[in-house]
Amino acid sequence: MAHYDILISGGTVVDGLRTPRFTADVAIEGGRIALIGDAGSADADRVIDARGLIVCPGFVDLHTHYDSQIFWDPYCTISGWHGVTSVVIGNCGFGFAPVRPADRERAMLTMERNEAVRATTMAAGMPWDWESYPEFLDSLERTPKGLNLLSYVGLNPLMTYVMGLESAKSRPATRSERTEMARILGEALDAGGCGFSAQLLGPNSVQRDHDGSPMITDTMSSDDLLFFAEVLRQGKRGCIQVIGADRELTEALCETSGRPVIWNALVLAADQHGNTYGEFRDVIRWIDAANARGHRVFAQALTCQNNYEFSLDEWNLFDSIPAWREVTMGTPAQRMEKMRDPEHRSRLRASFDPKRTVVGATVTAIPDLVVAEVGDPGLETHVGFSIGEIAEALDLHPIDAMLDIALADELRTRFVTPPQEIDMEAMREVVNSDFALPGVSDGGAHMKFVTLGRYPTEFLSLLVRENGLMDLEQAHWRLSAYPAMAAGIRDRGFLRQGAPADVLVYDLAQLRVLPSERLHDFPAGDWRLACRASGYRFVLVNGEITFEDGVCTGATPGRLLRHGQSA
Ligand SMILES: [Zn+2]
Repeated sequence: MAHYDILISGGTVVDGLRTPRFTADVAIEGGRIALIGDAGSADADRVIDARGLIVCPGFVDLHTHYDSQIFWDPYCTISGWHGVTSVVIGNCGFGFAPVRPADRERAMLTMERNEAVRATTMAAGMPWDWESYPEFLDSLERTPKGLNLLSYVGLNPLMTYVMGLESAKSRPATRSERTEMARILGEALDAGGCGFSAQLLGPNSVQRDHDGSPMITDTMSSDDLLFFAEVLRQGKRGCIQVIGADRELTEALCETSGRPVIWNALVLAADQHGNTYGEFRDVIRWIDAANARGHRVFAQALTCQNNYEFSLDEWNLFDSIPAWREVTMGTPAQRMEKMRDPEHRSRLRASFDPKRTVVGATVTAIPDLVVAEVGDPGLETHVGFSIGEIAEALDLHPIDAMLDIALADELRTRFVTPPQEIDMEAMREVVNSDFALPGVSDGGAHMKFVTLGRYPTEFLSLLVRENGLMDLEQAHWRLSAYPAMAAGIRDRGFLRQGAPADVLVYDLAQLRVLPSERLHDFPAGDWRLACRASGYRFVLVNGEITFEDGVCTGATPGRLLRHGQSA
């Protein structure tokens, strides 16, 4: 009689390959799927009764920034709580290798504003037992992991390493610098880096360095960028992740590298009433046309409700607006001083546009922000009202209304974007477009303001179960097999005999995103915004159970995935 490590018995299998669902047993042995079918009278060390439950591949999250968090949180939560079993780190040009020992502190500071994680927290949580990129991957390999991890080579650390930070921010590379950077990039790809990444958001980039300056790649020369693409062409490997690249440059990157580009981000850009303005259709048409021209461009699509919550003592995502950037730099005391200053106030009022996108990809204007929580009980009367309503009642400019409340509250007031309705018909077009990969998770970044890492749970519960934008077979292909393929992960993202057993068992009817909460669980006393999920009964990574009914088992079966190599 056959005996397995784990037998998932009688579940509804959705295999991630768009095969119509079927009822079967899934048996696991030695970390791999040993059988999908009828296990007959076989037994196992652990039998999971999956009748009435969905059995599917774990999710593959391509856009994350767990580059530091992985060292203190093996499950890369919140991703690990939402069924993600493989993540790609090193997105947007960011990362921590190569970095010389003398530059470690600056490297952590570089990510402080972006990730909304204190540099002191990173310092307390990271082992820093590497200098080169291959050494960084070796360190990741040694680190206990609750999920699998693949990494881009971020161009910011690479350019800093060779050119120096200030030079890299202010001029193109010289010939000898290019030669050296190509050598290091080649070495990183040899070691298992999956390509390179860059954020190209320009001088008013919303994701900035700790001193308020743009990141290196935000303003880097296109020639240098295309030079890196040429390195990929020579190696015939890897892919390129970009955010903010225009269409021409994106196609030039494809042309030069001959490699796939994962373009960020396809967004609905809806306002709080759910109105979109059709721009996403234009993007989809372009992506389709680029692919028809022979360029392999995938569109990472923001499929979550893009909601934020923040207080002005730490908030930094108005950074694309210079007047706001000025007043949200520095300590809370420095911020308050600037927010009280009449000149800063008048610049802020001048920057004010009642309809302007002030937060991320949504058109949440300042008057629509809602006061969710106050520190001073005397301000309680404002809770639940929008800035616009408060401004009208107090006969103040919305900027003054917002800042007066925040200042009276020593910046503790928490503002939230109003609940946003997704235009489901528009979202249907986005998620079903040929080259869309769901989820700009940004897990590990903007940790005090957003929880987009919840996207797989929201996708299945809100978009699929409640709104029927696609069937489960399509959804699991989009959430697992398709992104795995796009990033060059060869043997994951689907359930197939012989494949590594990254498997979820969940209850579709019970699947939901739980409310956001503030967790004080980061090293050196830092906190973050997080949300958990319910409905996932079992999460398995490489054949071991990592979560059972949302409770972590402590197992760390995750692997470092080296690009081009099978796990
Ligand atoms: Zn990013």
